[in-house]
Amino acid sequence: MFKALYVEKTESGQQVVTLRDLAETDLPEGDVTIRVQWSSLNYKDALALTGKGPIIRNWPMVPGIDLAGRVEASTHPAVSVGQDVLVTGHGMGETRWGGFAQLARVPGLWVVAQPSELDGRQAMALGTAGFTAMLCVQALQREGVEPSSGPVLVTGASGGVGSVAIMLLSRLGYQVVAVTGRLEEQPYLHSLGAAEVLPRAHFAAPSRPLEKARWAGAVDVVGGQVLASVCAGMRPQGVVTACGLAGGMDFPATVAPFILRGVTLVGIDSVQCPRAERVAAWARLAELINPRQLDDMVHEIDLAEAPQAAEMLLAGHVRGRLVVRIP
Ligand code: NAP
Repeated sequence: MFKALYVEKTESGQQVVTLRDLAETDLPEGDVTIRVQWSSLNYKDALALTGKGPIIRNWPMVPGIDLAGRVEASTHPAVSVGQDVLVTGHGMGETRWGGFAQLARVPGLWVVAQPSELDGRQAMALGTAGFTAMLCVQALQREGVEPSSGPVLVTGASGGVGSVAIMLLSRLGYQVVAVTGRLEEQPYLHSLGAAEVLPRAHFAAPSRPLEKARWAGAVDVVGGQVLASVCAGMRPQGVVTACGLAGGMDFPATVAPFILRGVTLVGIDSVQCPRAERVAAWARLAELINPRQLDDMVHEIDLAEAPQAAEMLLAGHVRGRLVVRIP
């Protein structure tokens, strides 16, 4: 038997979350079984646990889009018993049982060896949010944004993706401008390496097709009007990476930044990210991360606390990252 958070729907369609014992035979098919030690609570997990977003597509579900732990059984040639590994995305917690459990079973191709610089708790302190931040930074670099190109904007700065993106960009020598709805978090954002902090309100009002050209690059986790305003304020040849929808799914923009300033909009998808890119991004993350700064942005919770923490996260009351301790 193993403990897991279990989300099911009642006959009346109501979503119920319980911490319960499950049998190993309940686990899905897969060639690698992992004793989960750490997981993390991401925005998507919060939507799944609260039912506030249509994340869960197979019922009942063990949520958790991230996990780190030790391999307990493997028939996959590249994964050995006793190895410390991590798995993120691939539909875990959406279509497939995920990391909010003591045991998980996944296809071996999804499994990434934990980089030697990181332990399981640190890997989950980063989790999908940190991995996504790394993909955004790598996309900016690939598209030619260099520290000398000009300031790089990070929206949703106090959240998981935003915090790690600031840390990485600052470590790489970029001048980072953080955008937040929580100006009281300024000291925190400066401690991560933000040179300047701007209120979200500056970006929340409808923008003109083109605003003053200020930003060479941007990491946007908010979407909606904020993303449209960010695009309008890009410098010629600027690059925007769009990875989130914390502020909305819409995109009330014009084509002006793209056709008059050559702005590039790069979409980031951490879920189906190809394996080679995934492994390379984790290796780079492990190299760049400052363990002390990472520790400062993490709050640890128990598995049983995850449903309540999910409400707090969606209400915008969580700073940085939530790491989930698996009993
Ligand atoms: P998070 O920790 O909750 O951070 C989101 C941040 O966005 C909040 O801390 C807040 O920052 C800001 N925010 C919250 N509500 C907002 C609103 N209504 N309007 C404007 N800003 C708002 O979440 P996360 O884990 O960083 O994820 C952020 C987004 O990226 C989510 O939409 C998530 O689904 C998405 N995501 C996508 C991928 C991918 O593969 N594409 C991967 C990971 C995450 P401030 O208080 O500082 O303003």
